[in-house]
Amino acid sequence: MKAAEFDYVKAKSLDEICLFLSQQAGEARIIAGGQTLVPLMAMRMARPNTLIDINDVEELKGIEITKKSVIIKACTRQSEVLESVDVRRSLPILSDALSHVGHTQTRNRGTVGGSLVNADPSAEISLIARLLDAEMTVHSVRGERVIKAANFFSSAMITNLDADECLTQVCFPIWSSVRTGFGFHETSIRASDYALASAAAQLSLDSSGQCRSISIVIGGATEIPTRISETEEQLMGSDLSDTEIKTAMEKIPEMLEPQADVHADADYRRRVACVLVGRALKDARERAKGSLV
Ligand SMILES: Cc1cc2nc3c(=O)[nH]c(=O)nc-3n(C[C@H](O)[C@H](O)[C@H](O)COP(=O)(O)OP(=O)(O)OC[C@H]3O[C@@H](n4cnc5c(N)ncnc54)[C@H](O)[C@@H]3O)c2cc1C
Repeated sequence: MKAAEFDYVKAKSLDEICLFLSQQAGEARIIAGGQTLVPLMAMRMARPNTLIDINDVEELKGIEITKKSVIIKACTRQSEVLESVDVRRSLPILSDALSHVGHTQTRNRGTVGGSLVNADPSAEISLIARLLDAEMTVHSVRGERVIKAANFFSSAMITNLDADECLTQVCFPIWSSVRTGFGFHETSIRASDYALASAAAQLSLDSSGQCRSISIVIGGATEIPTRISETEEQLMGSDLSDTEIKTAMEKIPEMLEPQADVHADADYRRRVACVLVGRALKDARERAKGSLV
């Protein structure tokens, strides 16, 4: 199939994007890397009357790293972030997760902002945004607002962005503790396919080896990336021994209501997600102790 007829405008600034969006009353769509939108249009699952191309808007590109955060502008290519030595040093879990996003070719075009707004339940960037409680900055003619990852994803493929808003950047906080470790695991049918289930964990240990902060999130097996706070609370203050991790994980299956599709049924996704959480937690613990790089 071919896409339905549409108009095309190339924006030169953020102000222009916001103006175009406000004039189109929800009928226009931003195009960034086009890796998801173009196939959807070709299948006529998306029929915008106007495409607003943001690829020439320089203020939407680039990476800024401070002591406290990694800020990525929305139209930055996924490949640029993956190749950044500074990002890998400051936020290794993001680099790790990005290496699982699609293929080299899709990452060369696909943008960080496009992936977040697309809100695929299996998207790795969304998973890390939720894990670290990243902040999304969005702009419209009405002004700017900042949305925490916890409030950004609404359901599968849907965010709380208004139709006239443009995502401009995402800010990932950096945990300051030196004894911080992360783990990321996913299962997919083939390498670089969308994950059937994924899990990420980040935690910090104090000098006696007890867990002082922890975040655990599951993706793919849920409509939106889901923090499993009950398990986090149970592990806070513990030594994160294998037994403590196993006990804390016992309730995870009943917290999940995975979707079933042609690739995997709900029960399979539930079981795999639990296994992946265990692996992510153990990797995070070992990295925090310095025994895994
Ligand atoms: C073969 C293949 C395999 C893939 N595998 C994976 C995978 O394993 N994991 C994964 O996470 N993704 C995967 N993807 C998707 C890929 O990561 C896309 O890059 C991403 O989903 C969309 O990014 P994009 O820049 O191409 O956005 P586009 O396709 O241009 O846009 C996607 C949506 O976001 C909106 N949008 C884009 N930018 C903005 C903005 N700044 N503000 C507001 N709205 C915006 C668009 O209007 C559209 O609705 C795969 C894609 C392909 C083709």
